[in-house]
Amino acid sequence: MSHALGNHILVEFMGCDPNIMNDVTSIERDMVGAAQKAGATVINSTFHHFSPFGVSGVVVIQESHLAIHTWPEYGYAAVDLFTCGEMNAWISFDFLKECFGAKNYSALEMKRGSVNLLTRNDFDITSMRTKASEHINPEMYTRNVWFTDKDENQALSLRYTGDVFYDVQSPFQRVRILESQKYGKMLTLDDMVMTTEKDEFHYHEMISHPSLFTHGNVKNVLVIGGGDGGTVREVLRHPGIEKVTMVEIDGEVIKACKEFLPSIAASFDHPKLDLRVDDGIAYIANANKDFYDVIIVDGSDPVGPAEGLFSVSFYTNCYNALKEGGILVAQGESPKFNEKAFSELNHTLQEIFGKENAPVSLFFVPTYPTGMWSFQYGLKGSKHPKSVTNLEEINAFVEENKLKYYNAEIHVGSFATPNFVKELLKK
Ligand code: SAM
Repeated sequence: MSHALGNHILVEFMGCDPNIMNDVTSIERDMVGAAQKAGATVINSTFHHFSPFGVSGVVVIQESHLAIHTWPEYGYAAVDLFTCGEMNAWISFDFLKECFGAKNYSALEMKRGSVNLLTRNDFDITSMRTKASEHINPEMYTRNVWFTDKDENQALSLRYTGDVFYDVQSPFQRVRILESQKYGKMLTLDDMVMTTEKDEFHYHEMISHPSLFTHGNVKNVLVIGGGDGGTVREVLRHPGIEKVTMVEIDGEVIKACKEFLPSIAASFDHPKLDLRVDDGIAYIANANKDFYDVIIVDGSDPVGPAEGLFSVSFYTNCYNALKEGGILVAQGESPKFNEKAFSELNHTLQEIFGKENAPVSLFFVPTYPTGMWSFQYGLKGSKHPKSVTNLEEINAFVEENKLKYYNAEIHVGSFATPNFVKELLKK
């Protein structure tokens, strides 16, 4: 029996739990565990979670590698167990079969690199092996676990620690809190990045302050969505405001952010806040007419519970609930990531508020695909945000509150629209 350099087991695991097949953290943990169970020395692990679903990853071991690609939608995982030396990879196979709850499987074992077909090159192996083993610390191995938010043509990947602090499937969406290496803890809903500790201020300062300073005398504010709490935190910085009503559909989002994103969910106990867990679409349909000075729609992307937050009926109800002189601000998607949703929303606002009364403010959020994002406005007889004159008052407020993104120049500048965006907004 010729001596082979490696042993390769090609495995098909079928009938696996789709949720496990879509959980990069548990798959990374189990693949590393499978290697260690068979006595392997782990060098590093690199795992990617793709949205909407699927995981790919490899665990590099001193004895070669273990690799996996999953199709959660089929409950299927293709696994490669490639080993050399004495390691018995069937131990890893049994371990993974258990972990993945595979109802059935097939496995093909083949010898790789049969020595009698190879020519050995003489070089001093001892020094290389000793040098290599000096660098290996079996306890410590580098983990590369990546979270990827993408559509069919472009993606944003964030390396995260692999640790998941919150993971609940609510009646509306999958609510998760992960820890990214660069942006700290982050909230994802159905595997789309909603907010992170290190760049949330870009979004929350720009969704709130421009409309409040444009209006100049805001008393009564309605926030629809905004479950992470960052928007109401910013709104409640304005001393003149008497009441903020926040209507968030998913209590799990509030719970997760209170516990794991306290710097964002900092104002949920504020005396001026009336926090309701309810569907914003139903709420605004029954709201009082001519009641709010500012309405802020801090909703997620136009899928699942938030789909209706992009409808004509929803914005017509918002228009009716605004006082004369009132301002609506809505999370407006990106002219570079979901152009269709971006331009359709603006056309709806032009329809309801008037062609000249639906300006767009552009700003940057590093953890949203393309980084270029927008807020879209509906002005009900209000002046245009660009025409603000209280610039000193704005910068004094910025100074006092140590804001990190918003200031008077950004306020005005964010309404400067590039030509390709003007084209997108033309009806
Ligand atoms: N910054 C994020 C973005 O740009 O996608 C939005 C953040 S905020 C977390 C979005 C919130 O809107 C979520 O908590 C979600 O549960 C909430 N939401 C979605 N649909 C809703 C609805 N119909 N009524 C009220 N809240 C809703």
